[in-house]
Amino acid sequence: MQNFLKTSLVVMLFALLSVSAVQAEKDAHKDDIVQGNIICLFPDVDSGSVTPVIATSPCDGKPSHAHVIVDTRGEVGQVYAVEGTDEAITRLEKTSKRKGVNVQGKVTGSQKAWVITVD
Ligand SMILES: [Zn+2]
Repeated sequence: MQNFLKTSLVVMLFALLSVSAVQAEKDAHKDDIVQGNIICLFPDVDSGSVTPVIATSPCDGKPSHAHVIVDTRGEVGQVYAVEGTDEAITRLEKTSKRKGVNVQGKVTGSQKAWVITVD
């Protein structure tokens, strides 16, 4: 009887863990909203660095560059690297409003390296 109880508890615990694992997987694939500022990172080969700019007009005419979003909702200022298809990035680059915007996408990553995939 004792063994039966133990086995039942282990099975139940395993079932609970499986459910939370499935939930976490689902959460990683839902559409998230990041609210903050979109920053263009213009590379400078000479200095080997980048110049961060909050654009006030479309930046799709500029040489190819990366973007990050600084989440302004919290006190930490979480930074998200922006990735996506050419079409999705071009759509983002054609916008003029870059401050306090909502960006929808799929957020992945870990505590110190977040990525938002836009579509
Ligand atoms: Zn840009």
